[in-house]
Amino acid sequence: MAIQAWRVKDRYYRLIGSRCRKCGAEYFPPVYRCRKCGSADIEDRQMPKEGSILTYTRLHEPLPGFEAQAPFYLAVVRLDNGARVLTQLVDSPEESVRTGARVRATVRRARVDGETGLIVYGYKFIVV
Ligand SMILES: [Zn+2]
Repeated sequence: MAIQAWRVKDRYYRLIGSRCRKCGAEYFPPVYRCRKCGSADIEDRQMPKEGSILTYTRLHEPLPGFEAQAPFYLAVVRLDNGARVLTQLVDSPEESVRTGARVRATVRRARVDGETGLIVYGYKFIVV
């Protein structure tokens, strides 16, 4: 159990996605089958930690459990390998959040599971 949890955490920290061995397309989060060519010949691939904002939205009503993080930006980030990630932007001044802005991945505590007390980590991005 513990080993499995560490493996999952490791994947999170290292931003491990997938790469299609047939056509070279890269994905995050990981996929089992390539969406471009349909091949199931997929390998693990570390994603670049930087990219740029493709599009974003500001949520005026924060999601339940995220009230302390308002204003809350959700963005689609295109990583430098072309993979797209839906993510939250953190620690980024309002005026810096714009389409095309360069961003960098960071691992943050996302929430604490109420029942187990387990701290859940997730990806966030910061405008650089
Ligand atoms: Zn492919």
